[in-house]
Amino acid sequence: MRRMDFSDHRRDLGDNRYVYAVVSRRVGGLSIGINLNVDKACNFDCPYCQVDRRLPGGPREIDVAVLEQELDHLLALATTDELWTIAPFDTTDPALRRVGDISLAGDGEPTAAKEFSEVVSAVGRIRARHGLEHVPLSVLTNATLFHRPMVREGLESLDRLNGRIWAKLDAGTEAYFHQVDGTKLPFQRVLDNLSWASQQWPIMLQCMFHSWDGQAPPEAEIGAWAQRVRDLLGAGGSLSEIQIYTVARAPADPRVGPLTSAQLQEIAAQVEGLGVRLNVVGLS
Ligand code: SF4
Repeated sequence: MRRMDFSDHRRDLGDNRYVYAVVSRRVGGLSIGINLNVDKACNFDCPYCQVDRRLPGGPREIDVAVLEQELDHLLALATTDELWTIAPFDTTDPALRRVGDISLAGDGEPTAAKEFSEVVSAVGRIRARHGLEHVPLSVLTNATLFHRPMVREGLESLDRLNGRIWAKLDAGTEAYFHQVDGTKLPFQRVLDNLSWASQQWPIMLQCMFHSWDGQAPPEAEIGAWAQRVRDLLGAGGSLSEIQIYTVARAPADPRVGPLTSAQLQEIAAQVEGLGVRLNVVGLS
């Protein structure tokens, strides 16, 4: 589950297994990603996914001690400014030479990792060790597994660290959900999980819209999606942001293409006036 709008894809940091970093103008600094799916397994198969699954992944099990070392090392480099002397980071705009955020994401669904909760605690500990408690910590998730007690435990730890949930909602109907997220999982499970989470904490929705065989999403589908958003709020849920975005780079699936900024704005208009911040990320 990756955010698709990183503006600069500098993710190599030596031979790290779990921790990578990109400089992002949107984040205003170094955006650190923690890949909890080195095995590249995902319970979705989104046609717009940017993960290259033709190459084999690594082991499913996460070595939390190694992950901690990698993050500790990166944060030490960033906070002593040494990072900005190392290629490719040495060309970073001085205004962006700061740690902007830390995300639990990766080449699959991060909450599927059985070490998810342990990793959240470890990341919180290391962030504090470097005096970076103010740096936002997020999990990017497809919300399919929030009903699992171990995942809830991890989300509760995340909340204690002032962390944020970025949850995906790309559809309004079961059939379209199966099409654009490439899964046979029941849509109602995602809706129930989103409803549960948004009643515990304000969550952020990340909503990807794209063309399919040259056609924009059907109007009825956008209407159904907007109704799902209203349902979450109507059930007492709290949404701190809805991000509406499109494919940034050509995905492997040729049926999928980007929408225009105007089309994204039209979609956003369907959920205007609900008291939720809207963030439309069009193509630049
Ligand atoms: S949820 Fe979709 S976009 Fe995210 S990793 Fe899985 S298949 Fe890719």
